[in-house]
Amino acid sequence: MTTCVFCGIAKKEIPSSAVFEDLEVMAFKDIQPSAPVHYLVIPKEHIQSIAHLEGNHKEVISKLIFTAKELAIKFGLKGYKLVFNVGKEGGQVIDHLHLHLLGGWNNKKDIDILPHPSLDK
Ligand code: 5GP
Ligand code: ZN
Repeated sequence: MTTCVFCGIAKKEIPSSAVFEDLEVMAFKDIQPSAPVHYLVIPKEHIQSIAHLEGNHKEVISKLIFTAKELAIKFGLKGYKLVFNVGKEGGQVIDHLHLHLLGGWNNKKDIDILPHPSLDK
């Protein structure tokens, strides 16, 4: 059993509500949504964060963004936010790179959220 939660999800050792999967990436519902629509898109490979990207990750990182874009179309989001929290000081709690896809707000004032004010926790 792996100790990384998102590796566990990628390997199906930990259940998730997956909405997309291929050989390299996976997308699933955030367990504690910060927006009416909140998905996480991850590489199956364990990469700690954006700060840990190497030259050979260019393709997979681009794939995360394209996957999020396709999911936004699939779920009818006209506008949305794509967020990478990077490092503890950037609000990253899970040390497996993930892209937040956030949207579905009806109320304009709710759009200006900071998805993970985890520094306040
Ligand atoms: P971070 O703050 O690291 O950028 O965001 C981590 C996100 O992962 C949070 O929004 C949190 O709700 C979500 N999360 C943490 N554990 C799990 C889990 O076991 N399953 C799912 N689906 N989401 C999780
Ligand atoms: Zn991992």
